[in-house]
Amino acid sequence: MTRNEFIKVFCNVIDLYGEKHYPAVRQNLIYDVVKNLSQDIFTKIVNEIIGNERYAPLLDDFKKYAKPFLAEYNAKFISEIRKNNMCSKCDSFGVICIEKPYLKSTADYAYGCDCLIGKKLYPNFPRLSR
Ligand SMILES: [Zn+2]
Repeated sequence: MTRNEFIKVFCNVIDLYGEKHYPAVRQNLIYDVVKNLSQDIFTKIVNEIIGNERYAPLLDDFKKYAKPFLAEYNAKFISEIRKNNMCSKCDSFGVICIEKPYLKSTADYAYGCDCLIGKKLYPNFPRLSR
């Protein structure tokens, strides 16, 4: 959803709850949460909020209402990159687990794979040194 599409829907929230609650900085934070969703889905979220919330909804409220839709978006996003980027090193999970000695036993250590999936989904995991 573009910033303009967002504003077209968000102006309903501003009209109802008052402009003073939504300075640009707060609008930007809310946009960041929902920008990966479509305008149609954001409209649904805003309608739910308007129907339910007596007081001006803030960032956490938008996160709460958007959560199921974001979960769906993320699941689709992940399955798309898995489908298009088969990796035999990590079985397209993005992570490689290696058993190493730890204290007197062993433990599984997780490393981010060097493939696209590993880089996208686990950018902060340690990499296996080659
Ligand atoms: Zn991989």
